[in-house]
Amino acid sequence: MFAHEKICKSGVDDVKTNRCRYCYKDIRDRDELVTASNWFRVRPFHYRCFELLEQDTRTIAGTWNPVNGTTGLVTVVLMLILAVVMLTTNILGFVGDILGFLALYPILLRAFSYLVYEMRLPKYVDNKPRQ
Ligand SMILES: [Zn+2]
Repeated sequence: MFAHEKICKSGVDDVKTNRCRYCYKDIRDRDELVTASNWFRVRPFHYRCFELLEQDTRTIAGTWNPVNGTTGLVTVVLMLILAVVMLTTNILGFVGDILGFLALYPILLRAFSYLVYEMRLPKYVDNKPRQ
């Protein structure tokens, strides 16, 4: 029996949030954590597993966008600027307000990722046993 079958049967998967959704092993620190969003879902992955996942999903429907890390940070900063400009000025009027709210979405994802996954992990663990 594989490890992930055991998890599915006991339903522990929902409780243990910091488990990689690709290989079903624990993520031990933020150094190896990549949180990624696909539509309205945010899921944690190992750094290496995320690369494998990206190769997998390129051919299947749906792509996962990294939420944490540099790419995510750039998106959040740009979206924050867009949201503030659109919501505090009258550029584009009503349409601008909608764009402003849409721009808040990646910011909320980033906050969600931090609160649910990153906050619970130590920043870096030395000498992690190899999995
Ligand atoms: Zn993994």
